Amino acid sequence: MAPVLQTRNLTKRFGGFAACSDVSLSVEQGARHALIGPNGAGKTTLINLLTGFLEPSAGEVLLKGETVTRLGQHQRVKRGLVRTFQINQLFAEMTVLESVTLSVCERLGLGWSWWKPVGSHGAAVDEAAELLDTLRLLDVAHEKTRNLAYGKQRLIEIALALASKPQVLLLDEPAAGVPTGESRELFETIGRLPRDVTILLIEHDMNLVFRFAERITVMVGGAMLTEDVPEAIANDRRVKEVYLGEALDG
Ligand code: ADP
Ligand code: MG
Repeated sequence: MAPVLQTRNLTKRFGGFAACSDVSLSVEQGARHALIGPNGAGKTTLINLLTGFLEPSAGEVLLKGETVTRLGQHQRVKRGLVRTFQINQLFAEMTVLESVTLSVCERLGLGWSWWKPVGSHGAAVDEAAELLDTLRLLDVAHEKTRNLAYGKQRLIEIALALASKPQVLLLDEPAAGVPTGESRELFETIGRLPRDVTILLIEHDMNLVFRFAERITVMVGGAMLTEDVPEAIANDRRVKEVYLGEALDG
């Protein structure tokens, strides 16, 4: 299968310090790919380079074989490279279905009418309801987003990202701050997303990583240490040393 997302020698320096150094990553179409590594490994920096939030010092980002290195964040989203964002004040006050319908309307270039019931937004509301069904959020469709449990709010952030029909969905610690019981359910739901969405995620809970990922890239000190299937990563001596070191430090 062809890679949908690639980096070539991607580097980000802050002053003399390389937070991301010569990273050449390849994410296959439909992948369930995890990015792991100890704190400060450069994982978030890499995601920020992928989305265009940060400009690289060197190297390239390619989406479906075409360079997007010099495109802004919005242009990358339009091409299907999407990350989640925290629910803003506006969405917090809307119902779940309204929030997702508004996001679908934005993608379709359809107007959103505050004075009309959400059901009058035609195809957009159908698509939003389908998304909520996929994420098992239909039962809270008419609840205000801010009233939901933390784990459910993270799912809504994913629903809002999916409303822009991404090719690649980037998730930076989607379960951060979510209670353990909810985080497992959150990951199961992420795991059930349709395969036409490629997923690259950062997660430090190894139980969640190994349950979700089919491919794992390990970063250390800004560089890629290795990449392989989970079984091989679990048995990699260098990876064990990195995590042993972290456990001893902590
Ligand atoms: P991770 O997500 O793997 O924990 P980060 O990508 O957040 O790691 O950070 C990698 C390294 O780069 C860290 O040492 C961090 O302090 C440094 N870093 C990240 N962003 C900046 C910045 N804007 N300016 C200077 N240093 C940064
Ligand atoms: Mg991080």
